[in-house]
Amino acid sequence: MPRPIHALIDIDAMRHNLQVVRQHAPDARIWAVIKANAYGHGIENVFDAARAADGLAVLDFSEAERLRRLDWRGPILMLEGVFEPRDLEWCSRLDLWHVVHNDAQVDWLATHKTHVGHRVFLKLNSGMNRLGFGPQAFRAAWSRLNALSQVDEISLMTHFADADGPRGIEHALAVYREASDGMMGAQCVANSAATLRHLRAADVPSDWVRVGIAMYGSAPDHPEHTSEQWGLQPVMSLRSELIAVQSLCAGDTVGYGSTFTAPEDMRVGIVACGYADGYPRHAKHAPVLVGGVRTQTVGRVSMDMLAVDLRPCDAAGLEVTVPGTEVVLWGRSASGAVLPADLVAEASETIAYELFCAISPRVPVRVA
Ligand SMILES: *Cc1c(COP(=O)(O)O)cnc(C)c1O
Repeated sequence: MPRPIHALIDIDAMRHNLQVVRQHAPDARIWAVIKANAYGHGIENVFDAARAADGLAVLDFSEAERLRRLDWRGPILMLEGVFEPRDLEWCSRLDLWHVVHNDAQVDWLATHKTHVGHRVFLKLNSGMNRLGFGPQAFRAAWSRLNALSQVDEISLMTHFADADGPRGIEHALAVYREASDGMMGAQCVANSAATLRHLRAADVPSDWVRVGIAMYGSAPDHPEHTSEQWGLQPVMSLRSELIAVQSLCAGDTVGYGSTFTAPEDMRVGIVACGYADGYPRHAKHAPVLVGGVRTQTVGRVSMDMLAVDLRPCDAAGLEVTVPGTEVVLWGRSASGAVLPADLVAEASETIAYELFCAISPRVPVRVA
């Protein structure tokens, strides 16, 4: 018998979420961002839904190759561009569009032998200070690229540091507008947060948008908005089962370090899920659904197990069986109840992105 833990991927939910994104960006073409193995969901698992987008964005060349093997003939964007000159051969061979964010990448292109005209996304550093040319160098790079026979088309892009927070995008957008003033090319600046929060109000240039987390059903700006408020549905459900139940007397403790002490006689359930599955060890009183009833974790998360408070389940009259009672760590229960991953992330001082990406290889992933 395999351990009961598994991740269930609901690709209809992903189709729905893409529709939600389209409503916010009706005139934009959408890059579905499926880097990091589709944020842990599995590129092959989500492909049938992601292909409804206009292009697919990754940053590992092996992932681009997997997409071509799936017979995706549409655009693929390499979000960090090439890492060494040889990578340009991949771009030519697999017809990959690629970000250009530094002078070395322009130099390599200038000496690259190809019959295929490359499509590049020239990246401006608008204040995030990770990748991209500063405003002056941006214009110079555009001119250099424009003179290269290897380059067919130049699009313009930047990435916002504060699309999800109180600072917003206006300051970065002003930098972008000034730097790109008068430059030709399709424009692509918005991630999920910018698309949902700012696209209409701020008149954001959006020939393309780049959408990741919203497509996977999490709110890019939790807790300001919940996934439900955005109308997003969870794509990944991490499910397991109870494998033991312990009846505690008041004063008994649970788990390593005895960090939880029973305040009264109570039952706890032991779940086949631990940090070796990718569940965050730092989770404290994280919400969890047991048989569809909302309760919380107690004590430390260990490598293969965690403990849950069964009092709310007992109060709800839930009949707990071992094994058998379903536990939803995040996502949707068989009963239809939903536990947004954003809430588990909050209880673990992280973000849902990290939870999804951290699902470990030992967790079987199934497509619903
Ligand atoms: C990952 C990534 C995105 C997607 O961000 P979300 O917040 O998941 O929408 C967009 N643009 C770039 C450059 C990225 O690396």
